[in-house]
Amino acid sequence: MTDSWHTTVAAEVGSNYAKRGDCLLERDYRGLYIHVPFCSKRCAYCDFTTRAISADSPELDAYRDRLIREIRKATREGLLGSIQTIYIGGGTPSYFGHSRLVELAYTISLSINLDDNSEFTIEANPDSLSGAMVRDLFALGVNRFSLGVQSFVDSELEWLGRSHDSQQALDAISLIQERCDNVAIDLICGIPGQSIVSWEQNIKRAIEAGVSHISVYPLTIEEHTPLAGRIASGEDQSPNEDLQAEMMLSAATLLQSQGFTRYEVASYARPSYECRHNISYWTGIPYLGIGEGAAGMRNLHDGRERLLEGTVIERLDPAQSKAEDLMLGMRMSWGVSSHDVCSARDLMPGIDKVFAELLELDLVRIADGRYQPTQRGWLLGNELFARIWASVQHDDSPPALK
Ligand code: SF4
Repeated sequence: MTDSWHTTVAAEVGSNYAKRGDCLLERDYRGLYIHVPFCSKRCAYCDFTTRAISADSPELDAYRDRLIREIRKATREGLLGSIQTIYIGGGTPSYFGHSRLVELAYTISLSINLDDNSEFTIEANPDSLSGAMVRDLFALGVNRFSLGVQSFVDSELEWLGRSHDSQQALDAISLIQERCDNVAIDLICGIPGQSIVSWEQNIKRAIEAGVSHISVYPLTIEEHTPLAGRIASGEDQSPNEDLQAEMMLSAATLLQSQGFTRYEVASYARPSYECRHNISYWTGIPYLGIGEGAAGMRNLHDGRERLLEGTVIERLDPAQSKAEDLMLGMRMSWGVSSHDVCSARDLMPGIDKVFAELLELDLVRIADGRYQPTQRGWLLGNELFARIWASVQHDDSPPALK
């Protein structure tokens, strides 16, 4: 990644609040998300929009054709002219298959002006990634691979119902690094039976493997998953939330001591390897979603719309949009500027009082002219977000923050 890439991230984040309403409106999408809703098997904890399917199912070819048609349509409608970040997520995109992915990436490379500042991410699982896939996707412009590792301990992977083992994860990281130095992985903490020692071993193995970006998530039990059933029947225990909080803290200490920066509540990156696509979700930058279950967002002169497969499913008025900006800003380490808060006063008359309370509760602090989340604020994120959202005098729960 170049310095100019990093400068672009900083400039985009820093000035986005000022820019919204002036230029990033309606059809001016900067991010493209493409969803591939297929996996080899369903993990025990997963509630994502995905389904297990045979690798030779004709449904995969039909879905490839659908995606290509939708990308061409978006191109004809002039929606892809300003795209800067592309993210193919799932599901398991690598399970979609080498030739289908190459066709998809080829269509994207013809439709979008990929330059040195473009970020093009694809998600992969260790057991469905090949060297040829990495080679061909890299040649077509993919410059970031996000690998679903979750753990480097085989018994933990088995408990989660993952389809790979730890050696496959290490091998996949090495395969990617032969072409591309931008490797992101996810790790899950608080797996029942996992000790602090085992968790810290996971973090250390990730650092030793030389990955550039690590996301850490506490295990959550989602309704209607096999894991929720196992816990309800008493077969398994619920995760221990205190231990999870301790593990999140130990991850922060270890990673920061090794040169990673925590730029978002769950995201750590080596300098210049922050995920620009995810930052766009947290800074109000419009993104287009393509494919089954793909979400999109666009800003309007009088608010914001959220879309699902191209259909508007939620509309936020200007005050709600502003509240969402402030809430999302608090997911990131740099928080929001005092100017952002001052400029929200017209729409959110109670906002100064809310931030005074957040300071008093030690959920935010002031540093460098910005309100930034404290460690306590990140641990009690729901309370922090709810207080900001309540200030727009809306009775509903805050919107889900992607
Ligand atoms: S691989 Fe990912 S998307 Fe697929 S079932 Fe597992 S957690 Fe869900």
